[in-house]
Amino acid sequence: MSEMTAVRMTAWRKPPEVVRIPVPEPGPGEVLVKVAGAGVCHSDLHVMDWPAGTLPYDLPFTLGHETAGWVHTLGPGTHGSGLREGDAVLVYGPWGCGVCPSCARGAENYCRRAPELKAAGGGLGADGGMAEYAIVPSPRLLTPLGDLDPRTAAPLTDAALTPYHAVKRSLHRLVPGTAAVVIGVGGLGHMAVQLLKALGPADVIAVDTASDKLDLAAGAGADHCVPAGEDAAERIRDLTDGLGASLVLDCVGADATMATAAGAAAAESDITVVGLAGGTLPFRYGTLPWEAAVTIPYWGTRPELAEVVALAQAGRIRPHVEIHPLEEAVETYRLLREGRIGGRAVLVPEG
Ligand code: NAD
Ligand code: ZN
Ligand code: ZN
Repeated sequence: MSEMTAVRMTAWRKPPEVVRIPVPEPGPGEVLVKVAGAGVCHSDLHVMDWPAGTLPYDLPFTLGHETAGWVHTLGPGTHGSGLREGDAVLVYGPWGCGVCPSCARGAENYCRRAPELKAAGGGLGADGGMAEYAIVPSPRLLTPLGDLDPRTAAPLTDAALTPYHAVKRSLHRLVPGTAAVVIGVGGLGHMAVQLLKALGPADVIAVDTASDKLDLAAGAGADHCVPAGEDAAERIRDLTDGLGASLVLDCVGADATMATAAGAAAAESDITVVGLAGGTLPFRYGTLPWEAAVTIPYWGTRPELAEVVALAQAGRIRPHVEIHPLEEAVETYRLLREGRIGGRAVLVPEG
């Protein structure tokens, strides 16, 4: 095979580069995926902005940790996996060792050997899916998509899996008569709204600074939309008869949104911060409701990804996708930084 286009991180604190590199060949145990689409996640902007040394990754590597496509070539030793060439697949993003107790239960997001691995997954230290083809190290990291179109399914593996994991652990709190808040209705947040509506009876309240994002939230099923700001927590208390929300999912993670989260949470609630904006939440008597629990979850497990795909196959969740050409990756990241993407942008190779 010949060359392909790839979007590579070549320097810290610089935009990525669109370059030509050889099409890789799958080694023993590996699978070569023909990429249908790769989601453009806000985490990549953090990765690009953080100074050298923050992450243990060697440069360059191909970006794209939210990837879907078709099995193109099964590497030696993978023919017994049940996968066939042409199958539509989703790439599970956090690549662990595959063997430790966390990986054994499918929680490769919390692989116990992560510090030794140097890369968190394809697109995060190892070559990812913003290319025409991508190597996946093992068939275990591929989830069959069945009839779902891989061009628009890519966001399921991060924008949906991350809030799915975050919401699922709080479902026992979301009984009838309760409310859940989603702060930041971007790629993750618009899926979080849909997931909350699909999984439970709680009223869903969406918060964002941008009115078009609140429109997207309403379209995704939010019961109430509240503009972000200092009075957002009070608005949420009014909407919940003064009780507050049993789950606040902060998909931004800035000082301001965490303050809103603390102000909007009920007693015995979960304040779950998935956004990585680097904010701080004071944790002491008087700053949080009684028995509120604060947690920072990372991504989700392989079994949970299969559950997310099942929800999408049943038509219960559907990513709102903007298709952009792979060649326009740098421009698409710029649009994301400026808040000008609705839902999730997916980069699609030509042909
Ligand atoms: P995005 O850019 O698509 O969406 C962010 C949304 O937040 C936008 O709608 C924006 O208008 C809104 N927003 C920004 N500032 C706000 C504020 N002060 N108040 C209310 N709304 C505000 O981003 P995304 O791809 O959905 O990612 C969201 C965050 O989640 C990022 O920090 C990303 O790094 C992080 N992330 C974490 C994990 C994890 O496992 N913990 C996984 C994926 C992404
Ligand atoms: Zn991501
Ligand atoms: Zn492991």
